Amino acid sequence: MKVTILTLFPEMFEPLKHSILKRAQDNNLIQIEIVNIRDFSLDKNKRCDDYSYGGGAGMIMSPQPLYDSISSVKTSDSYVIYLSPKGNILNQHKVKDLSCLKKDLILVCGHYEGIDERIIELCVDEEISIGDYILTGGELPAMVLVDCISRYIPNVLGNEQTTSEESFNENLLEYPQYTRPRTFKGIDVPNVLLNGNHKEINDWRKEQSIKITKLKRPDLYISWKKDNESK
Ligand code: SAM
Repeated sequence: MKVTILTLFPEMFEPLKHSILKRAQDNNLIQIEIVNIRDFSLDKNKRCDDYSYGGGAGMIMSPQPLYDSISSVKTSDSYVIYLSPKGNILNQHKVKDLSCLKKDLILVCGHYEGIDERIIELCVDEEISIGDYILTGGELPAMVLVDCISRYIPNVLGNEQTTSEESFNENLLEYPQYTRPRTFKGIDVPNVLLNGNHKEINDWRKEQSIKITKLKRPDLYISWKKDNESK
């Protein structure tokens, strides 16, 4: 998969150069390119923002540098996403769909009070929000998106099992996990996990997943129940 990130702050993307994402890039499983929108500004001072028509606090990212930077990387296979608090809220279903169906993503990071609306009209396929709160820019949301999408690319995670047994799979949260030591600060690992009986372990884990989901995320629990009633 190829991901091109358009931003006014390329230096913010250092976190993508470490750990699992570094290995994925080194192994050519994902190509991440960071493009500086400012390089495309035709303004003599390389300005990329301007006042809002109609007034109001804050600056708006100008259309010209955005349009030209998007055009420079867009192909007929590209899917252009503008990270925006007004977008579709990101969840695990959306993450899976994007990683399976799209091979060339362009992520546009807004800043200040956002971007000129005509860019959304002309260039953007989808607006995505990472939650109902306002960040200072689209850089952190873009990194969130790249990180969670990359986990679904084959071979990015060492063990293919990992994504199928995690929270949100089948609308359930994950069961509790433990590692050594067997007793820590007086709290024991549940006995069932020590007996080597895989059926009992799987039954216990499923039961725990259901219990935790019902307690912590009743909304997900209702969806899980509905899915299971119709089976
Ligand atoms: N004035 C905008 C509004 O009220 O909808 C908020 C602009 S925000 C301060 C600046 C930029 O941060 C946005 O253009 C967007 O790219 C990004 N951003 C902020 N919150 C976000 C969120 N929850 N999800 C995705 N992107 C977000």
